[in-house]
Amino acid sequence: MWATLTRLHLIISKVFRLSMTISIPAKVPLAALPTPLVPLDRLSASLGGPRIWLKRDDLTHTSMSGNKLRKLEFIVAEALSQSCTVLITCGGVQSNHCRATALACAQQGLGCHLILRGEKPKELDGNVLLAKLAGAIITFVPADQYTSQLSTILSQTQDDYQVKGQNAFVIPTGASDELGLWGYYSAVPELIEDFQRLDLNVDMVCCATGSGGTHAGLALGFHHSGHTDMIVRGYAVCDNRHYFEKKAAEDIQRWYQRYLPGQPMSMPTLDVNDQYIGGGYGVAGPEVFAVISLLAAKEGVILDPVYTAKAFLGLVSQIRNGELAQVKNVVFVHTGGVFGLFPFRRSFSEAF
Ligand SMILES: *Cc1c(COP(=O)(O)O)cnc(C)c1O
Repeated sequence: MWATLTRLHLIISKVFRLSMTISIPAKVPLAALPTPLVPLDRLSASLGGPRIWLKRDDLTHTSMSGNKLRKLEFIVAEALSQSCTVLITCGGVQSNHCRATALACAQQGLGCHLILRGEKPKELDGNVLLAKLAGAIITFVPADQYTSQLSTILSQTQDDYQVKGQNAFVIPTGASDELGLWGYYSAVPELIEDFQRLDLNVDMVCCATGSGGTHAGLALGFHHSGHTDMIVRGYAVCDNRHYFEKKAAEDIQRWYQRYLPGQPMSMPTLDVNDQYIGGGYGVAGPEVFAVISLLAAKEGVILDPVYTAKAFLGLVSQIRNGELAQVKNVVFVHTGGVFGLFPFRRSFSEAF
C-alpha cells in the first residue's frame, strides 16, 4: 500500500508540478496482481502490424476473474468501512460484474442481491449460474421496467434491507463511479512497471468499454503519469462515443471532487471508437465469433462475445485497415468474460 501511495504521489506530481497528497482509498485484496503482460507474436506476425501485447486481466482470479475485480477491491473495502453486510448491484442476466460481485460477497461473508435485466432464464448458465451458486438473491426485472426504473428499484431494495436492520451498499452498473475508477487508475503504475521491466515503448493501450470505468481509469492514470501522448482507446460495446465521453468525464469530475478537492481539474483525452458495436449490447455477428476462433486457435486465449471480442475485432480491423500504421506496440487489456461465452454455444456449433 505504501509503495503504491508513494508512486502515485510521484506520478501525479509530475503532471501538476507541485507536491500534493492524495488519499488513496483502502482496498481489500481480491485479485491476483500483477497480471501477466504477454506478446501475441503469431497473431501480430500474421497481421503484419504492430506488436500486440495482452494484459491478462482475465487472470485476476478463476471464477471471480476479469476487470471488475480491480474495482471491487476498492468497493468492498468502502462497503465494509460503512458496516454494510449486503451488496446490491445490477446488470444483464449474463453480467460478469454481477457474477464477480456475488462471488466476492460469498468470499467476504457478505450478502449479495442482484437486480438483473430480463426474464428469468429457463436454464441457469454461464455467469448467472455462478452467481446463484455463490448464494446471491436475484430479482429479474423486465427490460423496459429495468431501463425506466433502475434507480428506484435499487433504492427500494436498499430500503427493504434497512427495514430488516441491515445496511446495504449499492454498487452502480459495472462499478463505474469515482470509487470504481481507482481500479484501473491504480492499474496504470502496474502497467508502467511492466513496460519498464520488458523495456517496451508502448504507443497505445486499449480495452472494451461497457460502463466506462475501465477506460476512464486508464485514461486518467496515464494522463497523470506524464504519458500524455499515449493513445488510450476504448472500443464501445453498446452506447455511442458521445455517451462514453460524457459518462467518463462525469466520473472523472467526481473523482477530482472527492479525492483531490480544490485542485485544478486536468482532463485526459477520451478516445472512444464506436464502430464495432455491431447489433448492440450482447448481440454478436459472425465476425465476432470469427475473431474468437482466430485468437483461440492462434494463441490459446479465449475472448467473450459481449465485450472483449468486439473490442479485439476493433483493434484487428484497425490494424488490417492500416489505421494504426504509426503504432509499434499496442497493449490490449483482456478484461475477462469467459463465462459469457457458453450461452452463445449455438453460434459456434453452426461453424463446426
Ligand atoms: C464490464 C466488462 C467490460 C467493460 O468494462 P467497463 O469498466 O464496464 O467499461 C469489459 N470486458 C468485460 C469482460 C466486462 O465484464
